[in-house]
Amino acid sequence: MVVGQDLGVTLDLETYSVRAHGKGIGHATDQVVTGARPGPEGSGAVELDILTHTTGEVAQERYDWVVCALHQTPEDALWHALKDAPFPVHRAGDCLTPRRAHAAVVEGHRAGVAL
Ligand SMILES: Cc1cc2nc3c(=O)[nH]c(=O)nc-3n(C[C@H](O)[C@H](O)[C@H](O)COP(=O)(O)OP(=O)(O)OC[C@H]3O[C@@H](n4cnc5c(N)ncnc54)[C@H](O)[C@@H]3O)c2cc1C
Repeated sequence: MVVGQDLGVTLDLETYSVRAHGKGIGHATDQVVTGARPGPEGSGAVELDILTHTTGEVAQERYDWVVCALHQTPEDALWHALKDAPFPVHRAGDCLTPRRAHAAVVEGHRAGVAL
């Protein structure tokens, strides 16, 4: 719904917006891609289904390039290797699911005080 939301926290949003505008970068908000398929044969294009949250309408649009940015996945191999160990093992922070440093600190603190 907001492009560059976290930049607001550091007061960088205005500077970013000006620089992005200067480079011809546009923003489309309140939209989510719900489908993707190859465009017409030989075009090399990608056709997307785009839902607009505020109206419920779905439109089809064609693009030359689509960059897919997804959620991070946890690096949890150590947890899986240790979870059945004969001693208590607590999972805290990004190995549960990647978030921010505060989540790792809070969960680590909880595990510590519970001992
Ligand atoms: C690019 C980027 C920017 C970020 N910016 C921010 C920010 O501005 N503010 C913020 O709050 N958070 C930010 N984060 C998130 C923050 O870095 C993490 O939430 C935080 O580091 C999680 O801490 P952690 O201790 O759970 O995991 P980590 O810091 O990832 O520590 C896990 C450690 O375990 C080690 N490890 C993993 N597997 C094994 C294994 N099998 N054997 C031995 N060691 C192993 C890893 O090498 C690593 O050192 C950012 C993350 C990224 C990727």
